[in-house]
Amino acid sequence: MKTKEIINLENKYYFQVFTRNTALSHGIGANVWDTDGKKYLDFFAGIAVNSLGYGNKHLAEKICSQASRLIHVSNLFYTKEQSVLAERLAKLSGLDRVFVCNSGAEANEGAIKLARKWGAANGGKFKFITTNHSFHGRTLATLTATGQPKYQQGYDPLPGGFAYVDYNDFTALEKAVDDKTCAIILEPVQGEGGVIVPSEDYLKKVRALFDSKKLLLILDEIQTGIGRTGKMFCYEWSGVKPDIVTVAKGLGGGFPVGAFVAKEEVAKCFNKGDHGTTFGGNPLACAAANAVLEEIENKKLLANVQKTGELLMKELNALAAKYPQIIKEARGKGLLCALELHKEGAEYVKEAASEGLLINCTAVKVLRFAPPYIINEADIKTFAQIMDKLFARRK
Ligand SMILES: *Cc1c(COP(=O)(O)O)cnc(C)c1O
Repeated sequence: MKTKEIINLENKYYFQVFTRNTALSHGIGANVWDTDGKKYLDFFAGIAVNSLGYGNKHLAEKICSQASRLIHVSNLFYTKEQSVLAERLAKLSGLDRVFVCNSGAEANEGAIKLARKWGAANGGKFKFITTNHSFHGRTLATLTATGQPKYQQGYDPLPGGFAYVDYNDFTALEKAVDDKTCAIILEPVQGEGGVIVPSEDYLKKVRALFDSKKLLLILDEIQTGIGRTGKMFCYEWSGVKPDIVTVAKGLGGGFPVGAFVAKEEVAKCFNKGDHGTTFGGNPLACAAANAVLEEIENKKLLANVQKTGELLMKELNALAAKYPQIIKEARGKGLLCALELHKEGAEYVKEAASEGLLINCTAVKVLRFAPPYIINEADIKTFAQIMDKLFARRK
């Protein structure tokens, strides 16, 4: 099918809610090709999802062999794949119990429901504190948790019980906690909001506050988790542990799968029938997630994320120093990095694509870079050369 035909069909039959780039056809490693045969270096990875890049043999083989054995059984049966994934996620997170679902929003929705149950059993607490510029998903509850009014407009009445404070403002948070607060929902690094890295002691202080008040810390690691920042979970960098953590994006290496993981004391608030899903945790999705976790371990990808993440930050800092009139700041952690510009960034995304590089613009002025964990030094050099070319045109 010709690219034009693909686009015309979408325009005619698909909900017009997305602003799209070209039509993609196939990929290998960190490279992807469009339907006209143009090759791209991918520093976007399907919104930080394609953790292993494209065409990973181990992942593809595990998905294929699982698909020919069992795709779905419902949660009225046990499967080895789900049990093994649950053990893995519990051990990796340092938490106790796992619920597997299909997406990030569902993981957060489940975490919100679990915290409400916990709050009801602990003094009738029900309020959530979330942060401005956060992103937690598109269901009614998770878009209410999302501290960006643009995502909420037109959907009133929104679920009640959510309060918003500035990210990385501990004093504001202290003031916002009241006797009906049950939990805070926080990204360890705000992703969609513009790759905002909080000060080093922020999470530690939040944890201490919520410990002293005996309230729940829910960390949304849907974007930062499963190795994106160079540790399996971003919270490991600050030495805190959440009561509930949510994951999705990178977990399936492109296969849709999410999960929330909780401490036993909280997890026990869900009894038989309190939460459920038809598709969530099916053996195919769990086989994909298991394959991703195996590959991260076997190929020592966390070390590669740390190493290449440092190289990427070096290049971004060099660009920021060279083009101060265009770039306000370089920032990031591991392979979740960004350049905040003085002006809107959308045109750079288009120009980068025409130079054979996929990047993303979020929060209007922020160019976000989230390549797969398998990139190497040469990929980063290529990336930096293309970005330099784009900025040099405007000097
Ligand atoms: C992407 C994202 C979500 C939503 O995940 P979906 O799979 O799109 O529902 C939630 N929280 C964070 C931090 C995200 O980056």
